[in-house]
Amino acid sequence: MRDRTRTFSLRTAVALSCALALVTPGRIDSQTKITVDKNKYTPAQDVQVGQEAAAQVRKELPLLKDELVDEWVDTVGARLVTAIPPEFAHKEFRYTFDVVNQKEINAFALPGGPMFLNRGMIEAAKTEAEVAGVMAHEISHVALRHGTAQATKAEKFQIGAILGQIAGAAVGGTLGGIIGQGSQIGLGTYFLKFGRAAESQADILGAQMLARAGYNPREMANMFKTIEAEGGSRGPEFMSSHPNPGNRFNAINKEADALKVQGNYSTGDFTRVHSRLTGMSPALTAEQIAANNKKGTAPSPTASGRTVRVEPPASQARTYQPARFLRVSVPANWQQQQTSDVVTYAPEGGYTADSSGRTSFTHGLQVGVAQGGTGDLQRDTTALLQGFARSNPGLRSSGSRREAIGGRNGLTTILSNTSDATGQSESIAVSTTHLKDGNVLFLVGVAPSSERPVYEDAFSRVRQTLQIRD
Ligand SMILES: [Zn+2]
Repeated sequence: MRDRTRTFSLRTAVALSCALALVTPGRIDSQTKITVDKNKYTPAQDVQVGQEAAAQVRKELPLLKDELVDEWVDTVGARLVTAIPPEFAHKEFRYTFDVVNQKEINAFALPGGPMFLNRGMIEAAKTEAEVAGVMAHEISHVALRHGTAQATKAEKFQIGAILGQIAGAAVGGTLGGIIGQGSQIGLGTYFLKFGRAAESQADILGAQMLARAGYNPREMANMFKTIEAEGGSRGPEFMSSHPNPGNRFNAINKEADALKVQGNYSTGDFTRVHSRLTGMSPALTAEQIAANNKKGTAPSPTASGRTVRVEPPASQARTYQPARFLRVSVPANWQQQQTSDVVTYAPEGGYTADSSGRTSFTHGLQVGVAQGGTGDLQRDTTALLQGFARSNPGLRSSGSRREAIGGRNGLTTILSNTSDATGQSESIAVSTTHLKDGNVLFLVGVAPSSERPVYEDAFSRVRQTLQIRD
């Protein structure tokens, strides 16, 4: 069993590995040079936000805690950490590796170093180097600080909104915000869903690290093929958090051509680990994990498919300031939750987990900023709605109307959707207005269709009283 002492000694070992990386050979000239994105946060902030999120993850996901398996991933992980190029090795970072007893093929890493690998991913791999490939990719996101770099780009919401609030992602005791499945209407998360540029960088740096650690980088490309082939109705979660930047396999193989694999490393334990895993009782599905969490002491989301009874919006208002430039007055019985890239105002019971453990937001309002760019509110709004429609395939628009939002020209679009969580029809009001920098401030009001009149009234008051000072 993995106890505290062991975890501590692992961290020490990895920290030493970071120091050793400073004396390992420098880059080979033909390999691709990586330029890091602008980041206004400190590495210490990466560590803080990552640790808070990791604590939440450890509460919600069943860790496998098998000594043989843990030692093996720790050894592979430590080996890869020594292969981080010195310019990307942050002394504050502590890379840790936990195996989650979950069936779906997935892995994710949090800022500052905590990584979680699903048992299903190891079982699907054919070689140690394939697992190392996914781990090298994840370590690259951490080392290049992609999570906080994304937060830097979305400057409108300060990191204060993210730091210390990450636990809010666990509202309703869900797996949602944390592991990148996001709320149904949300836009994903800063830390776990990456853009194409970040994906390319993690593929390239991952390949370089693999070669330095003695693994063939082409095995990473092979593993991505296996993951893509996995499919499923929504596709593998890994691929939605790590989208193919285009031509992924060729790009990795091309980089591999420029690299010299330094030795031929293997712990030699993959076969033993693999047969141990496949011989255990089956890993839990996301659905089973969500059901177990509901039984636990975590704040329990309402059972899937049940009619949710939620107190109607209070007539008194309460004002929040989710960002420097914004004041929002919402019904006094709604609580503010700042999770990743949106701020949600919802009454108690306003979130529900569906059968696969994804969190749906069923009552309340979300506020966020999306990238604008066309200068035309209708066109920017259409792009935003298309984004929502990708994660909510049942979304149908019943038309837009011009309506002032916080005293500015705005658009309100009414949509209908079938809630994944309750199976019931819901009414969604999306209001948009331009900020001075051309980006789009949006408000998304969600309520069951049967309760639409009372919620529409509440949403309308929020739109009228919104104060924007950008
Ligand atoms: Zn990625």
